[in-house]
Amino acid sequence: EISTPGHEPRPVRAPRGPELTTLGWQQEGALRMLMNNLDPDVAEHPDSLVVYGGTGRAARSWAAFDAMVATLKTLKNDETMLVQSGKPVGVFRTNEWAPRVLIANSNLVGDWANWEEFRRLEDLGLTMYGQMTAGSWIYIGTQGILQGTYETFGAIAKKRYNGSLAGTITLTAGLGGMGGAQPLAVTMNDGVAICVDCDITRIDRRIAHKYLDIKADSIEHALELATAARDAKKPLSIGLEGNAAEIFPALLEMKAPIDIVTDQTSAHDPLAYLPIGIDFPDMKIMSEKDPQKFTEDSRNAMAAHVKAMVGFMDAGAEVFDYGNSIRDEARKAGYDRAFDFPGFVPAYIRPLFEEGLGPFRWAALSGDPKDIEATDKAILELFPENEHLRRWITMAGEKVAFEGLPARICWLGYGERHLAGLKFNEMVASGELSAPIAIGRDHLDSGSVASPYRETESMIDGSDAIADWPLLNALVNTASGASWVSLHQGGGVGMGRSIHAGQVCIADGTELAAKKLEAVLTNDPGMGVIRHADAGYDHAIDTAATRGVRIPMTEN
Ligand code: NAD
Repeated sequence: EISTPGHEPRPVRAPRGPELTTLGWQQEGALRMLMNNLDPDVAEHPDSLVVYGGTGRAARSWAAFDAMVATLKTLKNDETMLVQSGKPVGVFRTNEWAPRVLIANSNLVGDWANWEEFRRLEDLGLTMYGQMTAGSWIYIGTQGILQGTYETFGAIAKKRYNGSLAGTITLTAGLGGMGGAQPLAVTMNDGVAICVDCDITRIDRRIAHKYLDIKADSIEHALELATAARDAKKPLSIGLEGNAAEIFPALLEMKAPIDIVTDQTSAHDPLAYLPIGIDFPDMKIMSEKDPQKFTEDSRNAMAAHVKAMVGFMDAGAEVFDYGNSIRDEARKAGYDRAFDFPGFVPAYIRPLFEEGLGPFRWAALSGDPKDIEATDKAILELFPENEHLRRWITMAGEKVAFEGLPARICWLGYGERHLAGLKFNEMVASGELSAPIAIGRDHLDSGSVASPYRETESMIDGSDAIADWPLLNALVNTASGASWVSLHQGGGVGMGRSIHAGQVCIADGTELAAKKLEAVLTNDPGMGVIRHADAGYDHAIDTAATRGVRIPMTEN
């Protein structure tokens, strides 16, 4: 039971300002970020503790949430709270270098790591789905994914359209917590996007948050708007209500002039993808009534959806899987060309991973947007020669509406992240920032995830499914002094398909925090460099050699 007497759903909002409500800033950071994940402005479905990504939760139940809050409030600077799939299960005396919280979410032994068994255990109240940053308390709203999506569409622009998406139309689906970043990422690259979602409230929410421009009344209307904007080379994003499994094939049939096709519906979880023939308002009831039949139906719908994507590819469009496992679900329904188009990591992102580049994010625990303005300025001063970064930070400052605690994300690599961390820590110490900063990242990073359909798809040495790397990543971040560390299974692509780790550090302005930040923010991206060097990527081997990352097997 998610809610029990005395532990009912209620709006949650993290404390703001420079006053502690706990015994130290490391605990305070964990408390505020846990609460921020469930802020109605941040979480997709806060009453059921769902933050984003299908059923990605921050806590297993409201009783577990209340226990975690109460524990964090009394947790000492040399104690560590242990969280097992969203429920606090112990507090141990450790030391002040140790994380204040250690989290393990959704982990199941290999042969048992499937949705059926997971749901059986979830129904018994024994586990929860942590997704990536939901259960590890560093979700910052849709902005978190916006930068990665901006990078991906930027890479497509570079690859096929001379660096700009002006004059192109992108077709995609899914306007949820992650997918909602797509329209803005496309328009930031000057393109036009048609975004399909079966839930009209998601379309309206993205318009309200300024991630989506307008909504169309029909397929024809959407195409009319899209082609007019494309011809005028004007960026525009259009929401279209409907089932992607019907709309994509219809658009293909109409020979719609689509240039780029992808998808971010919650395909990783068949119970979160709307089958054909079920009205959206009935989706929840139908999925609960007969999950097995619903799964079959949604897989069949995904096969129709993916078949249309392959059709667009055959017609010359740029088509890619955006990390939601829709190809594998379509394959399970018997569609044999599902893997004809690539995933976005091997197609566009891997070269960045090779040098430890990945998503670096931070949140102002003060709640004051001025703190983020000051850190934006600091980032531009730290890396003045990085034009791409300047373009992003400037645009983000102008266009991104904060959700919950003000936050920022940008991609930084090995040798860069610790400089930013140390600078923010100095700014806290000097009073330039009004309270400490939480610095973390997505689990989708260069050295923190094993996910053969996404981050580690098509590794050159075939090591896609080797999951020792994320385990080592969690261990090294624990050893390096992160404020909280998490180790999850099944995020992004679903049960049995990924193992991944996260870390968050609190820059509280102390000397101890500086030492921890330097270690964590060096070693964490360093994992990306050694993981890709080990696989044999030249760029990673060069990065290790030139930037002094030690790899024993290359030393004589
Ligand atoms: P979400 O659950 O918040 O949103 C999914 C949306 O898809 C919902 O709005 C839902 O109404 C819509 N939808 C479901 N079935 C549909 C259908 N048949 N037709 C049209 N719309 C439909 O999920 P999210 O957080 O936005 O994540 C989306 C997917 O992307 C997940 O599978 C997630 O694991 C994956 N993901 C990818 C990345 C990445 O970097 N590429 C990162 C995180 C998550």
